[in-house]
Amino acid sequence: MTTTPQQLPAAAELAALRQRYRLERERRVRPDGARQYRSADAEFGYYAADPYVGEVAGREPLRDTVDVAVVGGGFGGILAGARLRREGVESVRIVEKGGDFGGTWYWNRYPGVHCDIESHVYLPMLDETGYVPEWKYAPGEEIRRHAMRIARKFDLYTDALFSTSVTSLTWDEELGAWIVATDRGDEFRATYVVTATGTLSEPKLPGIPGIEDFQGHTFHTSRWDYAYTGGTPDGGMTALARKRVGIVGTGATGVQVIPMLAEDAAHVYVFQRTPSTVDVRANRRTTAHDVGADHDGWARERRENYLRIVSGETAERDLVADQWTVSAGLLEKLLPSFRRQGERQDFEAVYEAADAAKMNELRARVEQTVTDPDTAHKLKPWYRYACKRPTFSDRYYPAFNRANVTLVDTADTHGIERVTADGVVVGGTTYELDCLVFATGFSVGTSGIHSGKLPVHGRNGTQLLRAWAQEGPRTLHGFTSNGFPNLIQLGILHNASSVNFTHILDEQAVHAAALVAAAEAKGAVVEPSREAEDAWIAALAEDAPDHEWFHAECTPGYYNREDRGRPNGPTAYPHSAVAFHEILKHWREHSMDEILRARACTRA
Ligand code: NDP
Repeated sequence: MTTTPQQLPAAAELAALRQRYRLERERRVRPDGARQYRSADAEFGYYAADPYVGEVAGREPLRDTVDVAVVGGGFGGILAGARLRREGVESVRIVEKGGDFGGTWYWNRYPGVHCDIESHVYLPMLDETGYVPEWKYAPGEEIRRHAMRIARKFDLYTDALFSTSVTSLTWDEELGAWIVATDRGDEFRATYVVTATGTLSEPKLPGIPGIEDFQGHTFHTSRWDYAYTGGTPDGGMTALARKRVGIVGTGATGVQVIPMLAEDAAHVYVFQRTPSTVDVRANRRTTAHDVGADHDGWARERRENYLRIVSGETAERDLVADQWTVSAGLLEKLLPSFRRQGERQDFEAVYEAADAAKMNELRARVEQTVTDPDTAHKLKPWYRYACKRPTFSDRYYPAFNRANVTLVDTADTHGIERVTADGVVVGGTTYELDCLVFATGFSVGTSGIHSGKLPVHGRNGTQLLRAWAQEGPRTLHGFTSNGFPNLIQLGILHNASSVNFTHILDEQAVHAAALVAAAEAKGAVVEPSREAEDAWIAALAEDAPDHEWFHAECTPGYYNREDRGRPNGPTAYPHSAVAFHEILKHWREHSMDEILRARACTRA
């Protein structure tokens, strides 16, 4: 914790804050919870169309055979491909909905897009590619290009399918292979399938009455329309010079976009429901010397040091020393290690005063920067630090001092009330707009094989989600499931998590590649027994006490599933990512044979 004892609020202040947080939460809880949103499909499908490819060229459907099909070409899929190559697997086909590699960095090219995790730990495979980022926080385009760099280095372009979505996966027992069907008519075979479909990939829209009536221009931030705005992610949106632009949403994306719109648009209306915490950004150029890039393995060391600290483990030094590591003690509320000891009494005794001190500091930052008292008042966040994803910007609050920026608070009306042909209605006032941008985030858990949109049929035609409907998800370590041979799942289910998610993905990729290599070496298939799954689920459940109370006191958002619903069974590994990685490594070294089963037939 960074706060000193004299800064810690007294008991009376803490009691007042608790009351204030409760009221702010009650202002925002909606009975419809997550049902308030609409997905960007069907009649709203144009919000999800790919603006970065022109006409997609036709091609003949594929009917061939590959060793490994990877579903998704974001960092998860790319890293799986790279790690498979390192294990000597030659035939790897990545299937990606976008027109190139990059995943979230392919789609999110909005003005101001950056990663707020330090580039030297966020960008994977820096040791392997010899690349050293020059900024502490990299722009999105640099990250996207790095994804492409890894793909080129490991020759992943050769067999990749872009602008293609996998529509079903079906295990063929006789062939001992998966049949991978796509929306381009492909039906090819793959001995193994690795799914890497991401967690925040499907844009969502608020279910606001009249949204379809808007006659101006509209798009979602993850499909920024530069053809309309002009400019690039670095700004220069000259076509907005005479436009009134409304933006809905002030999460991590909105905080990056709004200062850019403020510079270029005639007027910007920011429709805010819950203010984010916006901490110091302090982006700066870095040298190789600054980040210790002077010896082999420097990036791995830095990344591991970072993971230890943000996972609540001890480390001799804090190499990255940014707001994430400095506030790691407070962010433990998001972490399994906190959940383990996460009784309310512990929180009040150990964390609450430090949390309040941090939030007071962030509220003071608003007051010190924003000149209009009413606007400053509305921008102050009233909840605990780990309730919402922290954001970082040195340009966000100053944007509200500009004459061409208006903050419209929508908390009392649970978001914007209505969209009309001309604009947006809040509290009976209509804000006339030429352009309406949705920075309203992404559906969580609605893509990929765990969503039902990509049906998976395993042995005997068993459908994955139906098999899990009664008992909840069943896996060993989150990667493999009984009845679904040679299917390797990357993602957050039953697995570890961290703010530095590319690190998690890389460890997952290493594990996936090791599973494939072991199965190939033994001429086996990868499939855990039900007993192995039972043991893993029991391990997940055993140390996962009720930690819901913390999020139950938060304002709604995707961290607390919009305040609704409990998952069916444990969803995540209940300790730190560091501990999880040690378990995987130990298991690979000593027990991997337990999931290698004899192949039922010779391969076609
Ligand atoms: P979020 O889901 O975090 O934010 C959505 C925003 O839309 C919220 O402010 C929400 O308000 C608002 N909203 C939704 N419905 C309405 C409505 N009806 N009326 C008014 N406002 C509404 O999405 P983001 O795209 O900002 O971020 C998603 C995630 O992407 C982040 O949490 C982060 O993990 C990642 N990200 C990472 C970045 C990085 O630098 N590493 C940068 C950007 C994103 P409310 O809070 O009240 O629900």
